[in-house]
Amino acid sequence: MKIKCPKCNGDAEMPLDYSMVKCNSCDLDMSYGEYVKFIAHNQPKYSDILGDYASGGSTEGHTAGSLDEWD
Ligand SMILES: [Zn+2]
Repeated sequence: MKIKCPKCNGDAEMPLDYSMVKCNSCDLDMSYGEYVKFIAHNQPKYSDILGDYASGGSTEGHTAGSLDEWD
């Protein structure tokens, strides 16, 4: 399927099995996991949406809510 390239905003291609992402406009060629991290890094608001995928092991920086628990 066609997706928006996170690097050049051109047309990137991703197979239905989400195995990789490849862009024809630039030299982007990465796994889906790397693609998710790339987006999350560049656009922090996406990290919530993609959190389920990214939380597969790392919980670094996951301190949301702690500020509300001050006593
Ligand atoms: Zn591109």
